[in-house]
Amino acid sequence: MSVNQKAFLSINKEISQSGVKLIAVSKTKPNEDILELYRLGQRDFGENYVQEYLLKASQLPKDIRWHFIGHLQRNKVRSVLETNVYLIHSVDSLRLLREIDKQSGNLGKITNCLLQVHIASEQTKFGFGAEELETVFDNLVLESLVHVRICGLMGMATNTDNEETLQREFGMLCRLRDKFSQKYKEIQELSMGMSHDYPIAISNGSTMVRVGSLIFGQRDYGPK
Ligand SMILES: *Cc1c(COP(=O)(O)O)cnc(C)c1O
Repeated sequence: MSVNQKAFLSINKEISQSGVKLIAVSKTKPNEDILELYRLGQRDFGENYVQEYLLKASQLPKDIRWHFIGHLQRNKVRSVLETNVYLIHSVDSLRLLREIDKQSGNLGKITNCLLQVHIASEQTKFGFGAEELETVFDNLVLESLVHVRICGLMGMATNTDNEETLQREFGMLCRLRDKFSQKYKEIQELSMGMSHDYPIAISNGSTMVRVGSLIFGQRDYGPK
């Protein structure tokens, strides 16, 4: 068993005191590890990979709130929406948002989404640029999409321990959220912060942190 229960309990306590939601990122981890946290009361779990997510969602307790946080291809949207996915954090293009809206309509549901913003200096990360985001909100695109509810923004900071960089990137995302929430009241959530940077994210206004390795131990991507 690789779950670090002690770390989980202390992070959980620390985070709930600040009113922030803890999402336990369980990608690559077995069902037993998820159930171990479930028995300790954890209900919010994050997954990145569609195939793995679909299997887990079908096998694990139905009252888990699943957060889809990985890059999502449009041809996989329907299968994800057929589960009881709670929130999709990783909407990184208008085409993807439109597809989620269309498929949600077909399924007669409204899907909660966050728009992923590119705040890191690395090019490898996904997300809207700040300017691109302006056009999404400016063109009133959102008002034509009635089967998605945009609840906020998500971002991944540069993979660094440099505190100044992290402060700057998280601060920028927080200001974007503040700005758009004046126009769209539903835009409240700020999903930012991972194992190595969540305290800085919280001090910059994060409302949900996505913590994996600190709780579940290092991930092994090698052959099973
Ligand atoms: C894997 C992942 C996390 C968790 O990362 P840790 O460093 O293990 O806490 C958070 N967010 C996203 C989008 C991820 O892909």
